[in-house]
Amino acid sequence: MIISLESLLTIASIFFGASWGSFLNVVISRVPEGLSVVSPPSRCPKCGNGIKFYDNIPILSWLILRGKCRNCKTGISIQYPIIELLGALMGLALYKEFDISFEYFYYFVFVFGGIALAYIDLKTWLVPMPIVIIMSTIGFIAPLLFFIVDVPFYISLKESVFGFFLGGGIISFIILFYKYVRKMDALGWGDAYVLAMIGLFIGNKGVLVTLFLATLQASVIGIGMILINKKSTVPYDDVKDNDPIKNKAALPFVPFLIIGSFEFLFFGEKLINWYLNFMKSIT
Ligand SMILES: [Zn+2]
Repeated sequence: MIISLESLLTIASIFFGASWGSFLNVVISRVPEGLSVVSPPSRCPKCGNGIKFYDNIPILSWLILRGKCRNCKTGISIQYPIIELLGALMGLALYKEFDISFEYFYYFVFVFGGIALAYIDLKTWLVPMPIVIIMSTIGFIAPLLFFIVDVPFYISLKESVFGFFLGGGIISFIILFYKYVRKMDALGWGDAYVLAMIGLFIGNKGVLVTLFLATLQASVIGIGMILINKKSTVPYDDVKDNDPIKNKAALPFVPFLIIGSFEFLFFGEKLINWYLNFMKSIT
């Protein structure tokens, strides 16, 4: 049997994504607690039994062990295989989009870091700055290096830097406008840092499309939440102590920014072409 290089790389990218998906599970459970992501090695939270390498195969181990610790049979959250599966899919999607290239690894950092930020914000209302800073540094350095050596890169240095200031600037403006003009909190500074970071990776056009898609999708979900359960919706400005966790109506915005930026990264050109054709057809 002859396996083509293409299918070999496809399998490798799926496995690569799933393995980093495993690491993502460590990041999203430890970073909000301020714990190291390197040590100690993974262990069962209940019995403390160290997880052996053969029980740590992405997705498969969870299925083989039927979601239970080998030692004490305590249930292991389905979050683990789901994040690993998401990692596998993203590894594959990135390979289809960028082949094996510098861009593949650059956007790998963006996609996996983005999933971590989205998940942590969704669960804890926190935007961990160390992750944003690491991502922003890589997001800026790669286009800078390619600019210096004068080799074309997926995102140009100009677009990247412009995207950074545009993304940070728009959200800062929204925050300040709502704070001083409407006397309420609309978004947090974490959202501004995240959209600035997104701008480094996908540029100014990407920032605008991301913000549009994020707002649209957050509105749909927000309206859905109001329709399903009116009681759990409190307008943001009714929260006196400004504790977003007590404010069930407020939605964390980072997950929507991340989803919007992924949609732009993978479907951007198709989306823009579709929109332009749509506008042409109605005018
Ligand atoms: Zn156990």
